[in-house]
Amino acid sequence: MAEENKRKEIHDLGEFGLIDHLTKSFKLKQASSMLGIGDDAAVIKNGDQMTVVSTDMMVEDIHFSLSYTPMKHLGYKAIISNLSDIYAMSAVPHQVTVSLAISNRFSVQALEELYEGIQSACDLYNVDLIGGDTTSSNKGMIISITAIGSVAQDELVFRTGAKPGDILCVSGDLGAAYLGLQILEREKQLYDSHPGVQPELDDQKYLIGRQLKPEARGDVIENFRKYKLKPTAMIDISDGLSSELFHICHSSGVGAFIEEGKVPLHPDTEQTAIKFQLDPITCALSGGEDYELLFTVDEGDLEKIRFMPNVYIIGDIVDKKDGITLHTTGGNVHPLKAQGWQHLQS
Ligand code: ADP
Ligand code: MG
Repeated sequence: MAEENKRKEIHDLGEFGLIDHLTKSFKLKQASSMLGIGDDAAVIKNGDQMTVVSTDMMVEDIHFSLSYTPMKHLGYKAIISNLSDIYAMSAVPHQVTVSLAISNRFSVQALEELYEGIQSACDLYNVDLIGGDTTSSNKGMIISITAIGSVAQDELVFRTGAKPGDILCVSGDLGAAYLGLQILEREKQLYDSHPGVQPELDDQKYLIGRQLKPEARGDVIENFRKYKLKPTAMIDISDGLSSELFHICHSSGVGAFIEEGKVPLHPDTEQTAIKFQLDPITCALSGGEDYELLFTVDEGDLEKIRFMPNVYIIGDIVDKKDGITLHTTGGNVHPLKAQGWQHLQS
């Protein structure tokens, strides 16, 4: 068969290769389209203010399992993951739309619980639910959310502005949501093989909470304004530290190093990782769904971040030629891999 007629496989391109392949011939035509594909959210010029838009889809048994995710938490988390993308532009979210594909496997009561979670996130983050769509699905549930926010043009932060010498920071501890998922998966397996046995999860509240009820770091964006700090680049950590750092580095045309000993880990993360025979730092680098912010700061702003709460310095931005590396506590330098959550695994 001629090479050009050969069926192409999605997994040969990967998630980002596929997006690029499908969209590269689309050019922005509208003067108001300030930024299209390639950041946490798109940016539309709207007078002096910039409107920021982000959309995300969650598919049952890919992104969540209803065997251990209460409906209320699912609704809450679906909103949070979208708000996090708006904050990652240094913008403030104002509205969301929620679209659902469901089957009659779900009762009205179950969907009421889903919307209780959506409502409590909307109330806490002061955003309005302004629309959506409801349709049927053959089997699993699909939730698609669009979040809309705004920001003054000079306060926008993209993935593209990191430069050598900048300080690499994160807003909180990492790896906990991934370990929370491991605990829930393990309990599900135990439950499936021994139905009726109640799981003992009380001593794992922190990790499970980070998995089932994450928060979006709007408080960090507020602090940026308060301390008059503008990061040079920013992204939210939905797919793992390593993968997000690669996005910043590729978008900004730079390299970076992370100091292993400086990556914030909750004590429960360290203990549970070891119990599961996992390396805690690997959980932080490759686990997903922490929804912390990863950002870079000009070295001249060091004094400002020293006094800001929830800022952990974890490394530095370097020249592109120096690559993206991990400086281990043992004094070794390892090239980092971009493995995070792979949504499109073969
Ligand atoms: P995030 O992880 O921050 O939610 P994604 O990795 O989902 O971002 O998306 C990366 C970029 O690609 C975003 O700008 C997003 O809007 C865009 N994108 C993703 N899927 C598609 C698609 N099917 N068509 C057009 N743009 C897409
Ligand atoms: Mg994002």
